[in-house]
Amino acid sequence: MKILSLYAQSNSLKFSLYEMKDEELIVDGEFERIGLDASFYTIRLDGEKIVQEIEINSLDDTIDILIDKLISLDVIKSVDDIAGIGHRVIQGRDKFTESVIVNDDVLAKLDEIDESTPINSPTNSLVIKKCRESMPLIPNVVVFDTAFNQTMDEETYLYPVPYKWYKEYGVRKFGFHGTSHRCNANTMKDIYGREDFRLISCHIGNTGSVAAIKDMKCVDTSMGFTDVSGIMMGTKSGDIDPSIIPYVMEKEGKNIGEILNDLNKNSGLLGLSEYSSDMRDINAKCDEGDEKALLARKKYVRRVVDYIAQYYVLLGGADALVFSAGVGENSVPVRREICEKLACLGVKIDLDKNNITREQVKISTEDSSIDVYVLHVDEQLLIARDTLNIIKNR
Ligand code: ADP
Repeated sequence: MKILSLYAQSNSLKFSLYEMKDEELIVDGEFERIGLDASFYTIRLDGEKIVQEIEINSLDDTIDILIDKLISLDVIKSVDDIAGIGHRVIQGRDKFTESVIVNDDVLAKLDEIDESTPINSPTNSLVIKKCRESMPLIPNVVVFDTAFNQTMDEETYLYPVPYKWYKEYGVRKFGFHGTSHRCNANTMKDIYGREDFRLISCHIGNTGSVAAIKDMKCVDTSMGFTDVSGIMMGTKSGDIDPSIIPYVMEKEGKNIGEILNDLNKNSGLLGLSEYSSDMRDINAKCDEGDEKALLARKKYVRRVVDYIAQYYVLLGGADALVFSAGVGENSVPVRREICEKLACLGVKIDLDKNNITREQVKISTEDSSIDVYVLHVDEQLLIARDTLNIIKNR
């Protein structure tokens, strides 16, 4: 059974086609700069990478081009070879607590969310509608980044602001990366053979969040109403004092949109290092002794540790600490520095075991108070898995 996973953003579409019998990735790639000049696609198939500039006017067109490509590359004979399509949707607000099969009611709710949510763009609904129209026999499933976080209680998801903001405008913490944190919890369940454990899950990549999980349920998570909050990220600031915003608006003569752009795209590692948002570049500069890179990494580590410490207290201790995503899976010095700061909680790691990248491994020592693991999360595969489960159990 082949499942197609899609992740649409305003100017790009990421796709992965899996053979679900053995969860083998057949082909994947991205369409970028959709609706802009010099749009192009990248397709990775059989160890080869095809990059081609092509006019792509809209996300609608992209779906047609993708299906044509899959057929012309002989990956599928026709759309009938695709058993289901899974869509990653960032925002499900409090309307969705789990992945769902798409029907008219779900689409109506997605439209409502698109209208009322600043972080979301209607791109996902557009792609889902297009898939339903052009491939009416193929079921579509939506997998929400927010669904796993819906178990947070009121005390956690409310901000200490006028209650009316929540009641009338829906201002609350949603948290994102829920699918990845859920996957980390499931992997730890397989490792422990039980569900009653306390987990602090650090999904740290270009974006990132830390989640507190107890008995397989999300208790708290670092991202909030939107994904700019929480820990420091590649280009996002994470939590800051809101009064900074009008102050810098005045200093730089910028409007609110421009300041939000700075907080989302020019902050984090990039902002502090004035060099790069990529931890690989920052690590390389740190090795040369570059002071700004060292400061940026220190601050990054500090913000992750702040959340781990907060969640350690919230959970009343922790059984496991997990690192995943680009930085978590690959950055040996970041993991080491985070764990060094947790030594006061009894965390101990084996430096040789920590010296790995892209592998599932326990890096803590036997006498560590908390088990520390590096886990690999493939978000596109998680979407395909949910899609398969839902269409099988229909
Ligand atoms: P996202 O899904 O949020 O876009 P990823 O999980 O793909 O991000 O992570 C990408 C980031 O991971 C890069 O921007 C970089 O900072 C970091 N990264 C990837 N490989 C390495 C590496 N070998 N060493 C250190 N950091 C890495």
